[in-house]
Amino acid sequence: MTLLNIENLQTYYRTENGSVRAADGVSLELAENETLGLVGESGSGKTTVAKSIIRLLPDNGEVVGGTIEYDGEDITELSMRELRRRIRWKEISMIPQNAMNGFDPVYTVGDQIVEVIRVHEPETTKAEARERTRELFVDLGLEPSRIDDYPHQFSGGMAQRAMVALALAVSPAIVLADEPTTALDVVIQDRILRTISELQDELNTAMIMITHDMSVVSEVCDTIAVMYGGRLVERADADTLIKSPRHPYTLGLRNAFPDVTAESQELISIPGTPPDLVDPDEGCRFAPRCPFAEERCWSETPEPETYDDGHVVECHRADEAEYLRTEAAKKET
Ligand code: ATP
Repeated sequence: MTLLNIENLQTYYRTENGSVRAADGVSLELAENETLGLVGESGSGKTTVAKSIIRLLPDNGEVVGGTIEYDGEDITELSMRELRRRIRWKEISMIPQNAMNGFDPVYTVGDQIVEVIRVHEPETTKAEARERTRELFVDLGLEPSRIDDYPHQFSGGMAQRAMVALALAVSPAIVLADEPTTALDVVIQDRILRTISELQDELNTAMIMITHDMSVVSEVCDTIAVMYGGRLVERADADTLIKSPRHPYTLGLRNAFPDVTAESQELISIPGTPPDLVDPDEGCRFAPRCPFAEERCWSETPEPETYDDGHVVECHRADEAEYLRTEAAKKET
C-alpha cells in the first residue's frame, strides 16, 4: 500500500540571485515497509526533498507547488502546529546529516528522547520512556547510562546513533535518513546501518535513505530513485536500476555499480558541471553533459515515461536503452 505520494513537488530557495529551484517537479511514491534509496550528485536536491516532506526547510526555502500525501492526506496543507503535533516524529522522522545539530545543547540527550516519547504517547510514564530510551541505546551499541549525558559529551558517531534512537523512539511509519553515516569511520558506519536495518524490520518502518554510497543502496534498498538537477530522472526496483538503467545519467554512474560488495562505493563524478538551478535552460537538464543528447533534448523537457514494474525514466531516448547501454559500455572501456 502507498504510504507517501509526492506529486510534482516544487521547492525553491530565495536568494539574492533569484529562486533556486532545488526540487522542480519531483514525483515519488513510498510503500509501507519499503526502503527507497535516493541518490544523485551533490546539489541535486535530495536533502531538499526530505526536508520538504517533514517541513524542516531553512527560512529562505519554501514548497511552492505540488502535493505530499501521507496516508491519503496532503500534509502540505497542515499548519506547522498540526504537522508537529500529528506527523513529525510520530509518523515521519528524520535522521539529519549532522546529528549534533539535531539535539538541543541545554538538555540531556535522554531527556530529549523521553520528551518526544511523552508528547506523542501521553499514556507512557516517564520511567517507561526512560527504559525504552535505554533499550534503544543498547540496540545501537551505546552505554545506557549515557542517556543522562549532554550532546557535547557525545562523539560524532555516538550523537549519530542517539539520533537514530530519537528517530525510531515512537516507531514512526517513515524514517528519512539523510546520509546518516557519512561523517563516520567505516566500521561504525557499517554497524549503524545494520542496526538501522534491523530496527526498521522490527518496527515495520519504511525509509528514504539518502546516500552517496552505492554499496549501501544495493544492500539495503528495495527501490532506487536518481535525482539530477532538481528532477527525479529515474526510478526502479534496485535490481533493475543497477542492472538495466535507462537514463544516460544513471548509465554514467554505472562505474559505481559493478562491485557492490566492496567496502564503500562512492558515486563517481561524471564530466561537466551541474545545471544552473536559478535559471535552468530549456530542454533536458542533463543534455549539456549527456553523450547521447539529440537536438530535441536541448529544446524539449522530457516527460516521465513508465515501463514495466513501475520503472520510471525522464529521457527522450529511454526507449533505446539497450543501445545506450551497449554504447556506454564501449565508452567505459
Ligand atoms: P548533498 O548531497 O550535497 O547534500 P543534495 O542533493 O541533498 O546535496 P540539496 O542540499 O537539496 O542537494 O541542494 C539542492 C540545491 O539547493 C543546491 O543547488 C544547493 O546549493 C541549493 N540550496 C540548498 N539549501 C539552500 C539554501 N538554504 N539557500 C539557497 N540555496 C540552497
